[in-house]
Amino acid sequence: MKKPLWERVLTTADACPRVETTVRPSIRDRFWILELRCPFCSKVHTHGGGSIDHPPALGFRLSHCLSHARDYELVSSIEEVET
Ligand SMILES: [Zn+2]
Repeated sequence: MKKPLWERVLTTADACPRVETTVRPSIRDRFWILELRCPFCSKVHTHGGGSIDHPPALGFRLSHCLSHARDYELVSSIEEVET
């Protein structure tokens, strides 16, 4: 059965999934650490989020999977925004 166009567009967007990311300060509060459960390999990956003097830099990153690094977009989880 042929899929409707919108469904195919969604499938294309899934190639670069949005991933809920936990934001926490590093030791001595110098920079942000972005921590997430990878949608590709289901391991936990961390990325640097920039200086703590600025809002954490989320957005598009390359996953840290050893065998098949891919793009994903980091988005803040609502709980972390509240705290
Ligand atoms: Zn991964």
